[in-house]
Amino acid sequence: MSASYDIAVVGGGGLGCASALFMARGGMKVALIERGGLCMEASGRNAGTLTLLFARGPLLPLVAGGKAMWETTQTWLGGDAGHRHAPGIEVAFTPAEAELLEREMKLRQEAGLPIEIMGGNRAREMEPGLSEKVIMGAYSPVDGFAASNTIGGLYRAALGATGVTLREGVAVTGAEPASGGGHVLRLADGSAITARRILLTANMWVRPMLEWFGLKDPPIKGRVSQMIVTERMRPAIRAILRVVSQISLKQTNNGTFIIGSSGGFPWFDNPDEARIELRPDNVVRSMKIAAHAVPALGETRVLRTWHGFDGYTPDNQPIIGPVPGVRDVYVMACMRSGWTIGPYGGKLMAETLLGREPERPLFIPEFDPARLLRMEFGPNYTLKLRADAPATTPQVH
Ligand SMILES: Cc1cc2nc3c(=O)[nH]c(=O)nc-3n(C[C@H](O)[C@H](O)[C@H](O)COP(=O)(O)OP(=O)(O)OC[C@H]3O[C@@H](n4cnc5c(N)ncnc54)[C@H](O)[C@@H]3O)c2cc1C
Repeated sequence: MSASYDIAVVGGGGLGCASALFMARGGMKVALIERGGLCMEASGRNAGTLTLLFARGPLLPLVAGGKAMWETTQTWLGGDAGHRHAPGIEVAFTPAEAELLEREMKLRQEAGLPIEIMGGNRAREMEPGLSEKVIMGAYSPVDGFAASNTIGGLYRAALGATGVTLREGVAVTGAEPASGGGHVLRLADGSAITARRILLTANMWVRPMLEWFGLKDPPIKGRVSQMIVTERMRPAIRAILRVVSQISLKQTNNGTFIIGSSGGFPWFDNPDEARIELRPDNVVRSMKIAAHAVPALGETRVLRTWHGFDGYTPDNQPIIGPVPGVRDVYVMACMRSGWTIGPYGGKLMAETLLGREPERPLFIPEFDPARLLRMEFGPNYTLKLRADAPATTPQVH
């Protein structure tokens, strides 16, 4: 099968689904290809937290825009995504953690976010379920969460109603230039899709995809986050909590707690060979920290765990913009707080590719895919600039 589209979107997570939806509503003929089911990877496995407390730098306005869109899914997605308002609190137990928390939160305050830094007693007034041991808190009144495990169904209905051609359960395996201009995507079932433009929204899997388009060995690594869900219990906290750089936790609408962390998981290069196993040590450690922060958690037991992963770049910024050296291929991947940002990222991408003035610029230097040519991972997965960085961008097709 070969069909011609204005754009083909590769990867049906939150970023791909939202981009496809808004581009189709803007009048483009869109195909979305997803190798599994819609939003079954990171976008369906995440903790659902919508918070201004986690993101940094140029991502902050995207987080604020995303949060606002989750509050109105009935309007733009045609269904209830289980959104609930809840304040967010990040807490510190030691002077070193408090120093780190204060430094991070001042940056967010300077960026105009409504975050209050407070002592332990005030934090407990705001969230009485917190432990006496908390010495500092950062409070965001406007956080919340939405249900990631049902979002794929909502997007499927909305995309179908908007006329997007949806190919689920089939992977894109390669790309080549189309004879009359544009690109041909090769699919695992032997079919092909021709499109004038391509948008890659396949999270860490964009690593091999960028290579299809001539970007050799892009510095992208994967990292697992493990989630734990407990038995249901009486209402114990209302806020979404984070213990500085360690775990996040919340009590959901049905009384269970969801606790997440990346502690103890190695970084990896190939998502399909990662052999990601459950780590019991992570479960024990996360539950200990959780009960330290919210003593009532000692009353409940772990019900199940699962995990998912995300792609990371050396500077921890996403990859958003045109792929260097190739015409009409774009990427949006490796996004921190990607669940929160998803709908807004898709809306801005659509506005940009439709040639409209986006509500805020998305193709900015901090996110530019071309910067990857100059980077690699240094010690402890920090940014290292490459000594052999090419002076110019390779021209492919
Ligand atoms: C456990 C966990 C907890 C998290 N918690 C939060 C949170 O509380 N709040 C928050 O804001 N963010 C959170 N995140 C981050 C957030 O979930 C992600 O940043 C976001 O979902 C990424 O969306 P995406 O569309 O880029 O990627 P994904 O959802 O990973 O989608 C990429 C898609 O590409 C598809 N694909 C791959 N290869 C191919 C191919 N060859 N052909 C076709 N399709 C392909 C995959 O199957 C996948 O569906 C969490 C992440 C994880 C893993």
